[in-house]
Amino acid sequence: MKTNGSAIKNIPFEKIARMEFEGDNHVATSTETPMRDDAFELSDEEKIAFIEDRFRDIMETLGLDLNDDSLAGTPHRVAKMFVKEKFKGLDPKNKPDIRAFENKYQYNEMIVEKNITVNSSCEHHFVPIIGKAHVAYISSGKVVGLSKLNRIVDYYARRPQVQERLTRQVAEEIKQTLNTEDVAVVIEAGHLCVNSRGIEDQSSSTVTAEYLGSFKDENKKREFLDYVKMDSKQ
Ligand SMILES: [Zn+2]
Repeated sequence: MKTNGSAIKNIPFEKIARMEFEGDNHVATSTETPMRDDAFELSDEEKIAFIEDRFRDIMETLGLDLNDDSLAGTPHRVAKMFVKEKFKGLDPKNKPDIRAFENKYQYNEMIVEKNITVNSSCEHHFVPIIGKAHVAYISSGKVVGLSKLNRIVDYYARRPQVQERLTRQVAEEIKQTLNTEDVAVVIEAGHLCVNSRGIEDQSSSTVTAEYLGSFKDENKKREFLDYVKMDSKQ
């Protein structure tokens, strides 16, 4: 294994290597993303250097010649993309700072934010999950700026994910941030691991939903879904 003089070459490979393989078995085990105790011992820069070396090994194992101009920068590019973009939601330091404020308008109906872009990654294949989230809450006295709901979705999406867990994490975060029991989250997304490999079904998408508090009530649920549908007609 090449280490390229990386500052972190002394870290045993088994400390970093993934412990288990779940394959196609898309089962969400808990609401929490499974994280190692030492998840944040390395700085972002150390992680990028380490992943870069490993990704170079992967490319070379596949037989690619990294002396080619077009390929030379790929290991660093991929490593930086993993740490700083695709998976930055693993690190709590990147969690959006969301302050709830007083619901001074006395608006007591549901607030719905529709068609929030979901740009995530399947944790079983590391390929994109792309879709839309629709979220709603009913204020218990606090509200947040609407774009904060987009930021919550984006933060949890930027991890290796399963859609079921992402849905629950977003609902739980909104519940806690707004101190309300009444939260609904629906996500519809295409999984590239289904669309472009394996069964190669181009047209299928996956819908997941979490209804908390009064959204478990059929009328509330229908009202929410009617608002969501309204948008999809455009
Ligand atoms: Zn997958």
